[in-house]
Amino acid sequence: MHSKQSKLFPIILFAGTALFLKVHIAFSAEHGGTPWTYDRGIAGAKGPDEWETLNGNWSCNGRKQSPIDVVTDQVMQKDPTNPPNLRLTVAGNKPITGEIRNNGYAPTFFVGEELTVKLAGGLLQESYFMKQFHFHFGCNDTVGSEHTIDGNTYPIELHMVFWDNTNYATYELAAQGEDGLAVVSVLYELPMANINTAPTNNALEKIALLLNNVVDENSNYVVTQSEGIHIEDLAPLLTSADVADRFYKYKGSLTTPGCYESVTWFVMNNHPQITEKEIMAFRNLKSSKAHAQGPNVGRMCNNFRNVMPLNGRQIHSNIVIE
Ligand SMILES: [Zn+2]
Repeated sequence: MHSKQSKLFPIILFAGTALFLKVHIAFSAEHGGTPWTYDRGIAGAKGPDEWETLNGNWSCNGRKQSPIDVVTDQVMQKDPTNPPNLRLTVAGNKPITGEIRNNGYAPTFFVGEELTVKLAGGLLQESYFMKQFHFHFGCNDTVGSEHTIDGNTYPIELHMVFWDNTNYATYELAAQGEDGLAVVSVLYELPMANINTAPTNNALEKIALLLNNVVDENSNYVVTQSEGIHIEDLAPLLTSADVADRFYKYKGSLTTPGCYESVTWFVMNNHPQITEKEIMAFRNLKSSKAHAQGPNVGRMCNNFRNVMPLNGRQIHSNIVIE
């Protein structure tokens, strides 16, 4: 009896594994993507160190990759090409509606109406329009952001993704084109320990609530007019005249595969606060894609890429050092 069982068991195990692999491959193919993860330091895990090897069309091994560490001592401040203020405008000053999705890699809010949110200024040659915004965040407070400033990391980073619809017919073409995208990065911080006076950020609080609808992977939620996100709450740094100019600008890439080097980055230097309660809503998100193994299997958090070499690129800013 015992010997029979032990012979049968590996066969069942093998059949189960084969079935799992088949389902997994079919799922990936259906969604048209090469599977990848955020697993670091695990050989064969399809993590950031292996992205370049996973698909021949990707640019993850390029010379102008993102994110980067902004070394503020090396930023060009008095350069004549210092960019003027960024300007973010919303058609009709309405709250933004659209759809929030858990795609397994980041909670992503897709703007419903094209050409509603416009980014201009900052020496951008064209106006850029918001396609979506999403977040990268840690499983604990010590990690999370993709960009770092003088080596400092932040628990969560917002990316607002804009595309040049003057020179490109579609977002997908812009994402693989030259200067096709502009991404505004906002690094949030938690209040200092023992200080309980975090100002309420209406947009982040609202997003944290909306995340309850997309906890599970592949879930979507339509955000209505009454629930709409006020972009000025989400990006106070861009609508407040006295801080709108405080950004670091450089040429880089998407921070997810295929890492196309099409992005003009604006990393804001002011850091609004996020509460512990709000960030917990992000950490509750589930995913089977972000981590295939290791301690965070089944969770989305730690969905960040590590900083990439600058390779001689210049970082510009119009922050005036006094
Ligand atoms: Zn991002």
